[in-house]
Amino acid sequence: MTSLADRAQGLLIAQACGDALGVPYEFGPPLPENVVPQMVGGGPAEREPGEYSDDTAMSVCVAEALRDHPGAEDRALDAAAGSFVDWVKTAPDAGRQTRRVLDSASAPTAAAVYEAAQATWRAEPEAAGNGALMRTAVIALARPSDRRAVARLARRFAELTHPHPDCVESCVLWTEAVRRALTGGGLDVLSGLDLIDEDHRDIWRDRLDAATGADPRRFAPNGYTVTALQTAWAAISSAPGDGAVQLTIALMAAVRSGHDTDTVAAITGGLVGARWGASAVPREWSRLLHGYGGYDAESLGRLAMSVLP
Ligand SMILES: [Mg+2]
Repeated sequence: MTSLADRAQGLLIAQACGDALGVPYEFGPPLPENVVPQMVGGGPAEREPGEYSDDTAMSVCVAEALRDHPGAEDRALDAAAGSFVDWVKTAPDAGRQTRRVLDSASAPTAAAVYEAAQATWRAEPEAAGNGALMRTAVIALARPSDRRAVARLARRFAELTHPHPDCVESCVLWTEAVRRALTGGGLDVLSGLDLIDEDHRDIWRDRLDAATGADPRRFAPNGYTVTALQTAWAAISSAPGDGAVQLTIALMAAVRSGHDTDTVAAITGGLVGARWGASAVPREWSRLLHGYGGYDAESLGRLAMSVLP
């Protein structure tokens, strides 16, 4: 049995573990089943072993903003936007779409970042990267008992940088799945279908049915928000067992999908960690964790707890 506290901590710690586990393999090919991913660092940004990347750094920005402004959505959005703009100045690994938006924002405010995102979207109407999905899980911590409030927050935080409907709706669906797991409702990636545009529900049901129990490598390349979500759900729904067994197998399967390995494993970790808790995260991973903001596994767990109402 897990507690809400354990699951809340697991959400962020497993997300960071997936991120750090995927870092060494970023932009590499899909890996065969017999490869056991190791948290050895490296990757394009030459990370240290156990060091998490942009996915968790941006999640930390969101979590801190929600912690500092409970129940004050606009102020939390402003705080997160300000942190994003500050973070990207020294981030070696910000996603292309995210960097373009944040670099062109006229001020470190939600309104300015949102406006820059709209301009970027007009210039690249097809751009629908996974940069908002990778940082959305922590939003479920802010209002675990209110699924509509969580969906609204997920939407608004996604729109800061990724206004394409595929990005926004993938965030709404994933955050609702995380919220449900966090509150003891188990794993159900379709549970948020009623929270998205009615005309898009069948499309999303088909996309998620196709991923259920599938080989995560099938959805490569996974830089697109839809294939990233499919990869993460395939990794979880095809992983046998429960608790630490399912969590470990799912994160390793996500990394083996290749391409955007740290991001898809971070997304995977947000949900499977909310399901099974920090107590299910292997110690040999969590003891190595560190990164942006000076956090380690223990303080990431405390940060997650501090976002809960
Ligand atoms: Mg990354």
